[in-house]
Amino acid sequence: MGKNQMATQTDIISLHKICKSFPLEIGGTQQVLFDIDINIKSGEFVSIMGPSGSGKSTCMNIIGALDSATSGTYELYGRDISTMTADELAIVRNEYIGFVFQNFNLLPKRNILDNVMLPLMYRGLPMSERVSKSREMLKLVGLSEFETYLPTQLSGGMKQRVAIARALAGTPKLILADEPTGALDSKMGNEILQFFKKLNRDMGITIVMITHEFDIAKYSDRLIHIYDGRVTYDGKIPRSESDLMPKHKRESK
Ligand code: ADP
Ligand code: MG
Repeated sequence: MGKNQMATQTDIISLHKICKSFPLEIGGTQQVLFDIDINIKSGEFVSIMGPSGSGKSTCMNIIGALDSATSGTYELYGRDISTMTADELAIVRNEYIGFVFQNFNLLPKRNILDNVMLPLMYRGLPMSERVSKSREMLKLVGLSEFETYLPTQLSGGMKQRVAIARALAGTPKLILADEPTGALDSKMGNEILQFFKKLNRDMGITIVMITHEFDIAKYSDRLIHIYDGRVTYDGKIPRSESDLMPKHKRESK
C-alpha cells in the first residue's frame, strides 16, 4: 500500500474499496468503478485523469455526494456518508463543496449577479448580504462590470468564471470541478487553471479536478489516473503521460 492509500485523520475525502454498478436496460448491470481507494487531505490540488468512459464523472459524483456507491465506504470530512440522511447530505454539499462543471450550468435567463446569488438563497442570509457576498465574488473573478449581463452575452471563459464565483460564494472548503476547461479554448482554459491554482495556494481551498488531458492535469500537484474504472497511478505528476498506463498495456504497445 502506498502512502496515499492509507486513510489518516487529516483526510477530508476517504474512499475505501468503492465499487459502482449501473443497471442496464437489457437486464444485468455494468460495473464502472472497481475497488477505488482515494484519500485526499485538506489543501491538496488533485487531478483525476483518465480517458473518456473510464469512470471519472461517476467517481466525482460519489465524492460530491451526488450519487452513492454500490459498495465500499466513503468518509467526507470524517463522516461516513452512508449514515447520513438526504437532508444532511444536502447540507454538507451546500456548506462544504463548490461544484464546477464543463458546461457552466448557468441559468440562461438570469443575469450574472442572480446566478451567483442563487445558491445563497438556501442559506437564510438577508438579501443585502447575498448581494454583497456575490459582488465580492464577481470582483474576485474579475467580472464586476458584467453583473447585469446575461450568460449568453459572455465568452465561455467568462461563463466559467461566473460558475466559479457562484461556487465560491458559498465559501466552500472543497471545489469539485468536472472537466472545467473542456468547453474552452486553451487560452481561456489556462486562465481558469491559473485561477484554481491561486484559490488553492492563497485561500487554501482543496481542489479536485477531473480531466482527460495530461496537459491540464499538470497544473495540479497530484495526479490520480483512472483506467477502466480502476486507479492505475496515484502520485506526483509524472514526467510523461506514458508512465500512467498500467504496465501490461505499456509493454504491449
Ligand atoms: P468519464 O467521466 O470518465 O467519461 P463516466 O463516469 O461518465 O466516465 O462513465 C463511465 C461509464 O459509466 C460509461 O460507460 C457510462 O456509460 C456509464 N455510466 C455513467 N453514468 C451512468 C448512468 N447514470 N447510468 C448508466 N450508465 C452510466
Ligand atoms: Mg465525465
